[in-house]
Amino acid sequence: MQISSFRRLAVLSVGLLLAAACAGPPAPQPRPVNCCNVPWGYQVPENWASLSPCYEECRDGGEQSPIDFVNPRQQSLNAVDFSYGKVSGLKSRNDGHKIIIDIPQATAGGVPLASLKLDGVTYILQQFHFHTPSEHKIRGNERPIEIHFVNVSPGGRVVAIGVFVNRGTSNPELAKIWRNLPGDVVGELDLARLLPAGRTSFRYTGSLTNPPCGQGFQWIVYHDAIELNQDDIQKLRDIFSGPAFPDGNRRQVQPLNGRVVVTDVPRP
Ligand SMILES: [Zn+2]
Repeated sequence: MQISSFRRLAVLSVGLLLAAACAGPPAPQPRPVNCCNVPWGYQVPENWASLSPCYEECRDGGEQSPIDFVNPRQQSLNAVDFSYGKVSGLKSRNDGHKIIIDIPQATAGGVPLASLKLDGVTYILQQFHFHTPSEHKIRGNERPIEIHFVNVSPGGRVVAIGVFVNRGTSNPELAKIWRNLPGDVVGELDLARLLPAGRTSFRYTGSLTNPPCGQGFQWIVYHDAIELNQDDIQKLRDIFSGPAFPDGNRRQVQPLNGRVVVTDVPRP
């Protein structure tokens, strides 16, 4: 109980609770400098845990993300009820690790600007961001880009939605973000258009895919992809390449350690 509630806290990685975790209970001595803000990078992700005690879950957590979807268990799954529509006034930013679009948390008459409902619980979209190449894989196959939508319930539970992006036609919604990369005014986005039409998925319990690697995330990764043209894919790759990004801005797949992945994707 203790552990799971601590993990739930740890999971609120969107920056909010990092400070709280660092602060902890009042301590007589000054807390360690940079306990939760130790710089990390994508050069050697295997070494994240050695950078800070705050990052030990990256090595020891046991239920880490991303993973390869190799032999998932077939079952019917409840649909996610998305309230992802048009949201205006958006900006993109590059935090040095990824391109992030923050969703304003102001509500319109108590209704969040973007949220989803799963099994009766509402999760509010905090932000979404891009990894290239994809972090999750399907039977060893990566995709050029993966979008992560981070949704948090009032109780602090996280549902992370993964959407693959394949090479294909240009994408009018993503173009609004891409025209000013690496970061600037995006304007209005129709978030529904960033979700694939087909909604079969892979689901499992995992973690944040970068330090502090907090666990307890419910991951839902859609099988079907949206599309983006090659030029735009390359623009993102160019930002996350070079010595600081030998493998792009993604973490390699992690061991399952007995976790069960469920899916409603028809067998190939
Ligand atoms: Zn991510």
